Amino acid sequence: MEDSIYNTEEHQIFRETFRKFVAKEITPHVPEWEEAQAVPRSIWRRLGEEGFLCPWLPEEYGGLGLGFEYSVIINEELLRGNAFGVEVPLHSDVATPYVFSFARPEIKARWLPGCTTGEVVMAIGLTEPNAGSDLAAIRTRAVKDGDSYVINGQKTFITNGYFADLIVVAAKTDPAAGHRGISLILVDKDAPGFQRGRKLSKMGYHMQDTAELFFEDCRVPVANLLGEEGQGFKYMMAKLQQERLEVSIKCQTLAEEALKEALAYAKVREAFGKPIGNFQYNAFRLADMATEVQLGRTFLDSLIREHLQGQNVVQKVSMAKYWLGEMVNRIAYQAVQIHGGYGYMEEYRVCKLYRDVRCLSIFAGTSEIMKLIISRGLGLSA
Ligand SMILES: Cc1cc2nc3c(=O)[nH]c(=O)nc-3n(C[C@H](O)[C@H](O)[C@H](O)COP(=O)(O)OP(=O)(O)OC[C@H]3O[C@@H](n4cnc5c(N)ncnc54)[C@H](O)[C@@H]3O)c2cc1C
Repeated sequence: MEDSIYNTEEHQIFRETFRKFVAKEITPHVPEWEEAQAVPRSIWRRLGEEGFLCPWLPEEYGGLGLGFEYSVIINEELLRGNAFGVEVPLHSDVATPYVFSFARPEIKARWLPGCTTGEVVMAIGLTEPNAGSDLAAIRTRAVKDGDSYVINGQKTFITNGYFADLIVVAAKTDPAAGHRGISLILVDKDAPGFQRGRKLSKMGYHMQDTAELFFEDCRVPVANLLGEEGQGFKYMMAKLQQERLEVSIKCQTLAEEALKEALAYAKVREAFGKPIGNFQYNAFRLADMATEVQLGRTFLDSLIREHLQGQNVVQKVSMAKYWLGEMVNRIAYQAVQIHGGYGYMEEYRVCKLYRDVRCLSIFAGTSEIMKLIISRGLGLSA
């Protein structure tokens, strides 16, 4: 990363400032927030006050007009500070960009400033109980009625779902048209007929308020439609590059963290009279891990650079999401193994890392779906 275009002096100052913020205001609270399965609203406000939410938004909406590289830094430093689950990246770099790119001017003026201050937390609702990978099969329905859309349906596994103030919802406006009948509509938390279900209890990623959402004759203004009716699938495809890059950054950073933990432990834990890292089996295992992690970093940095340059790297980002999502799971598994029984104990960070990374090969498109995209890009009809 030393030579990367997101490592200038300004970037370093920003990184240092944000790192200190995380160390002071987030990391000490992680156990408590994991227990609550949520982060308090107050931290969103603090993040907003310091300019750490949607820093890429133009100043007219309260942003700083910064590039995506600042989002990369925020994503990385949250994870290094043990804050996987404080879903600023989902808010800033996945959900809010839909509003910025596709909402009507009056809707942007109403909601975007709150996205930078932390008064508005965003989520994106695509997945349903019966449709995840196959988004064309969603059943949530939006029917135009005068000046409103009336929405009926259900979403599940929604990140930031329990506390979100504004949700980008995928719904069918023309069920007969398959994926061409999907539209994206903004639903705000006070819309009549909108209800949240359970905060879902998960294997890891505990601070995250992942939730179910219900829409029962839920009425929202027609102006909440993003872009045009029936174009939702196209808009989602347009935004997937950044979404999957965002998750790839998570994979790589957490792999680096797991390797760091394993290496440090292997140097101090002794068995049979010497540090366990000095047994050739473990030394070679760590050498393998370090090689995979370095390959990941090199590939990821090249993609971040190409994304910043505005290139279309959908195919390569699918490869990264697939490979890094699997790689981080391999690294976390080996890192626990190197810790022996201590790796299974909650008081060791590697235990949380192992649980947390499991979702990375699943959300934002599973490894299998990534392979489908990659093979189609190769001209195969898998
Ligand atoms: C922690 C977490 C947070 C999430 N956050 C969000 C969110 O904020 N918003 C949102 O909308 N969704 C979210 N999701 C949902 C996530 O995107 C879906 O779980 C994911 O896309 C997979 O869908 P599914 O769970 O329905 O699995 P399914 O689609 O049922 O897939 C089950 C298995 O079959 C495989 N499979 C499916 N189709 C094929 C195929 N054609 N070829 C080969 N294999 C196939 C899959 O790869 C998988 O292994 C989240 C999920 C989790 C776990």
